[in-house]
Amino acid sequence: MMETRCSQLPRLFKCAASVLGEDISVEHDQEAAEFGKTMHPELGNIVEGKPYDPTVLRDPSLVAKASDMLDYAHGIWHSDLEKYFPSPQVEAMVDVPIKGYGNLVGTLDVLSQIDEHRANIADWKTGIVQGYEHQGAGYAYSVWVRMGRPEDTRISVTMVYLWHRHWTVKKYLAADLRAWEHDLIHNALGAGPNSYRTGEHCSYCPKRHSCKARRSVVSGTVDALCWGQQGDPEHGEFFERAKASMMSETASTAELADLVKMLMHRVLLVRRAADEVWDLVRTTVGRLGDIRLDDETVVALKTHEKTKVRDAQSVYRFLVERVGEEAAQGCIDISIGRMKQAQRRSANGIGVSPSTAVAGLMEHLKQNRWTEQSDVQTLREMAIPVEKDITDDPAVASGSLGNSNAGPGGGQRSAE
Ligand code: SF4
Repeated sequence: MMETRCSQLPRLFKCAASVLGEDISVEHDQEAAEFGKTMHPELGNIVEGKPYDPTVLRDPSLVAKASDMLDYAHGIWHSDLEKYFPSPQVEAMVDVPIKGYGNLVGTLDVLSQIDEHRANIADWKTGIVQGYEHQGAGYAYSVWVRMGRPEDTRISVTMVYLWHRHWTVKKYLAADLRAWEHDLIHNALGAGPNSYRTGEHCSYCPKRHSCKARRSVVSGTVDALCWGQQGDPEHGEFFERAKASMMSETASTAELADLVKMLMHRVLLVRRAADEVWDLVRTTVGRLGDIRLDDETVVALKTHEKTKVRDAQSVYRFLVERVGEEAAQGCIDISIGRMKQAQRRSANGIGVSPSTAVAGLMEHLKQNRWTEQSDVQTLREMAIPVEKDITDDPAVASGSLGNSNAGPGGGQRSAE
């Protein structure tokens, strides 16, 4: 029987073939998967009020990262979330039928069944934020189906992004879940195994090594970048048309948005493919040693020595003696990120939440003109907040469980 995992839903909605197709799956980020797997029992301990231990990560370089995330999870759970999760069940399994499309299965990090038609779910995310709204909807849908599809249901899903130190709440009523089920059946599962949709998500798809659709876009784009219209006619023509429109004064905003989106996703796929080859060359040289290309050139690994200051206080005292106080002061480079981290860690000591403490620190620095801000322009895709009010619960509306725009891309953010 067909089984769809809740964790596959974000990809399924972007490209049905990535989950349903027969291309070969190769999990590419074992390290990240391993990290998440090791962290989850510790996160479960936090929910159950037991001690947690970041040193379970065998790789010592990951312990500091794990420690930061677990401390954040501990703080946010006890200060903001715990009260909404009476009798929490950790690692709750769900397995429900999807009308004629097999079963939806998953493991909920935290489930609190409030009564026969209400439930609160929490999910810990240790990785990057990427379209998790369908995973959350899948969790809510599974619990709803398991409760017998009650009409007066109310299910909240809290996603806690530990790396980004923010969390979102989305609330589902029966109508939302019916609409999502329709979307799942007709637009995702119903699209079938041959429905390929390329995009930036291909970079994270386990089937990308054997996917014909991705290969066609990457090779067509390389062809067009190298040869223009003399190469692959379809892709070459697209690039010429895109460049002409982008340079034209009269192109409409909608047309430009479409073109930029298509250009960015094609170029990112090519860049990712090139990076993979570069990494392979580096690993090969690392394994075999220098490789002679011809009489004049050798490819070798070059080590760049990186010196870090370990004991800033001792170095500073030494520097004052050596170059004088004024010159030594010019060497101080205090990082905003580290200051925020230190403030977050000491927030409990001053009795406020980590985000409030950081906001206070930044305000104080600003008022005293001890810092200055400069603008840096970078290209960045940003999620547009969902314009849907999901806060009909008085507890949520009061701001105590997420903010009023909570939803995919909304929620409480640290002052980073
Ligand atoms: S590589 Fe891209 S197009 Fe191919 S199956 Fe995966 S997501 Fe779909």
